[in-house]
Amino acid sequence: MPVAADLLTLTPAGLYCPRGGFHIDPVRPVDRALITHGHSDHARSGHGAVLATPETLAIMAVRYGENFAGTTEAAGLGRPIRIGDLAVTFHPAGHVLGSAQIALEAGGARIVVSGDYKRQRDPTCSPFEPVACDVFVTEATFGLPVFRHPDARGEADKLIGSLALFPDRPHLVGAYALGKAQRMIALLREAGYDDTIFLHGALERLCQFYESRGIELGPLDPVRGLKPKDLAGRIVLCPPGSMADLWSRRLGDPVTAFASGWMRVRARARQRGVELPLIVSDHADWDDLTATIEETGAGEVWVTHGAEEALVHWCRQRGLDARPLNLLGYGDEGEAEPEGSPAAEAAPGAEVGSAGDSGAAA
Ligand SMILES: [Zn+2]
Ligand SMILES: [Zn+2]
Repeated sequence: MPVAADLLTLTPAGLYCPRGGFHIDPVRPVDRALITHGHSDHARSGHGAVLATPETLAIMAVRYGENFAGTTEAAGLGRPIRIGDLAVTFHPAGHVLGSAQIALEAGGARIVVSGDYKRQRDPTCSPFEPVACDVFVTEATFGLPVFRHPDARGEADKLIGSLALFPDRPHLVGAYALGKAQRMIALLREAGYDDTIFLHGALERLCQFYESRGIELGPLDPVRGLKPKDLAGRIVLCPPGSMADLWSRRLGDPVTAFASGWMRVRARARQRGVELPLIVSDHADWDDLTATIEETGAGEVWVTHGAEEALVHWCRQRGLDARPLNLLGYGDEGEAEPEGSPAAEAAPGAEVGSAGDSGAAA
């Protein structure tokens, strides 16, 4: 009998805790949901009751409106909440502002659901805290040994270097609206870039929200109404989906950049017409996934969205119980790209940039 049977199980709506009567990050509306973070594939509207960190609740309200759930309750980090005979505790996941792992404890057993997480430093959110547990439910967005993220600061330097090389061209940077855009801005500020950064309208509200929570992003302006000549040598951030659409034509002939862990795979950058791939990821890379599993001390590992099989294999080789969850419905936002198979594209022999040569791309 596995430790977890009545603590956590799989249902069509997603992970479900029978003892507590709640789902975690359900993919369809449920009575009671615990939400790890605000990305749209994890945080959906229409649940009866939602328990999440105050930041995640606020992000859901920004995205879906104040009535995104019947009722809401805020969970402070590190503070156990009683639900029946369960103790539920949210711990920082280091993924985006407000992101949390959720620990469930009863009868001396503890399960931790990571949500999405990373171990790289991120000035825009609280760092990941490893939590000892019996069962660790881990994401595996970049769960292949080929994925090793370089230091993100070096990627910001690459962008600044390109501005010097192409001072007449706007630099259009695709970045996801929640987390990546703000982290990219913060990285540029840390690298000494003080100029105004211009924003696509879809990024404005979440940037304002981050600033309202004390995360300083420096001078930002909407790109609305500006002409290509006003933007020469300037940085413009937009959601990835807008990079190739009509909207981007107003920028004339921009240098196109994209901030994502997928930029490790050259074919992806080419497919998207990205001239300047920036390998900046809000997910753990292979080394951080495996190191984190070891750190939790878990004897059993459940692997969800991403390249599940490779990580399951790695766990089993080390004598851990491991299973792929094959959950559907994740990967619509953040960095998990639903289309295409990362496993196929990043298989041995696929053309992959190394940290060493990525600095040469301009
Ligand atoms: Zn995810
Ligand atoms: Zn996410």
